[in-house]
Amino acid sequence: MSPSFETPPDAAADNWLRRDAGWSAAGWRHGWTTTAGPDFRAAPETAGHRDAMAALGRAAGLPHLAWVHQVHGGDVLRATQPGLAGAADALWTDVPGLGVVGRGADCPLILVGGRRSDGSALWGFAHASWRSTVARVTSTLMSRLLDAGLLDTTARALICPSAGPCCYEVGPEVRQAARRELGEDALAFFAPGGERWRLDLWAANTRQLTDSGVPAAAITVTGHCTICGGDLYPSHRRQGAAAGRFAAFIGGLQL
Ligand SMILES: [Zn+2]
Repeated sequence: MSPSFETPPDAAADNWLRRDAGWSAAGWRHGWTTTAGPDFRAAPETAGHRDAMAALGRAAGLPHLAWVHQVHGGDVLRATQPGLAGAADALWTDVPGLGVVGRGADCPLILVGGRRSDGSALWGFAHASWRSTVARVTSTLMSRLLDAGLLDTTARALICPSAGPCCYEVGPEVRQAARRELGEDALAFFAPGGERWRLDLWAANTRQLTDSGVPAAAITVTGHCTICGGDLYPSHRRQGAAAGRFAAFIGGLQL
């Protein structure tokens, strides 16, 4: 599915939200922020974090938001109420009006949504850093959603702006970890790059989505690389410790 970007209907007040037109047309409340918006670098449960989340909730039209302490692992949590759900790298819910929010500055944030056979919606996100990708965070998120009744034929996924295969260099230890945890097939996600390797996290996570039953045609890769794609998004690789964080969210279907 080719991406098409749009600014939200309430863009007059919020020129820092981006949405995918196809997802919006399908009724999904979702989006991601840019560097023109709040900085989500502050740790959860600090005043800076609360302020950034409040601004996002207003701009997104979502009364309640939930988040996690992102720890570069493979754990997945379910959000049943607003606020901090715990330490994990994926979060899902089916509570109407409750958005789940991930933060990043190169690591892919992946939004997933779909329906049960009764038409009710469920949705979530994964923070797919290389460590979380090797720990199968996206596969585990999909397993939880499927266990909760998601029909895979209704599932769709969106890989937000993040470090692309053009730029994301890693050392041989990352390739070894991927081979050990994911098997020989994972070597296909690494391209030679001098003494190091370039890892395609978009392809690695697309594989976890399709292996979980998400139709390939329902996976949107925005294709915007945060390292070489200008300064619209913060990048830890490009900016180092000075990099802020941006956010991606999904809040279910429009009621
Ligand atoms: Zn790049």
